Amino acid sequence: MINIVFLGPPGAGKGTQSAKLVEEYGIVQISTGDILRKAVKSGSELGKLAKKYMDEGKLVPDDVIIGIVKARLQQDDCKNGFILDGFPRTIPQAEALDNMLKNELNIELTHIISLNVPDELIMERLTGRRSCSKCGAAYHIKYNPPKKEGICDACGGELVQRDDDKEETINKRLKVYHEQTEQLQEYYKDSGKFFEIDGVGEQEIIFERIKEIVK
Ligand SMILES: [Zn+2]
Repeated sequence: MINIVFLGPPGAGKGTQSAKLVEEYGIVQISTGDILRKAVKSGSELGKLAKKYMDEGKLVPDDVIIGIVKARLQQDDCKNGFILDGFPRTIPQAEALDNMLKNELNIELTHIISLNVPDELIMERLTGRRSCSKCGAAYHIKYNPPKKEGICDACGGELVQRDDDKEETINKRLKVYHEQTEQLQEYYKDSGKFFEIDGVGEQEIIFERIKEIVK
């Protein structure tokens, strides 16, 4: 089994690399945000519990998230392994995850991969994103610009920047990310399973770097 925790700032390209890992190794990508939403929608006991906290504007407690992750990992498609994305974020979560995997599922993490991309590049990638206010088509002012500035090639609609992609928001997210990741690195460092990958370069080359350590 290949059981990966994937760390990396927003915009580092984890989604792209996860998709390649899924295809190459027949493992499953698990985003905790997604499975949390699904659990809530399904109305399962844990989903109902999670919803209660979310409705009150509170963070869903670690043991509830762990329960939802555990249920997901017990599904058939996880038999070759998984990539966890977005969890754990804190040391207590990392400890709870290790305990659950070891004591309840009798498996363990095989790789903790940190995809490293400099903040300046993240900023450029994310603040440059634009989308069409009419048809939703995606652009990037540097990497995929429209023919006419601010106007959608497909429908002539106005291109807009999401609030999530504004510099101030990204700065905040990067700050939080670095604080959390430093702690996690500290936690995983001595496990012998912690790997840092240079996330700058062509997607295929970055994937080769990842395969070197996963194979
Ligand atoms: Zn458009």
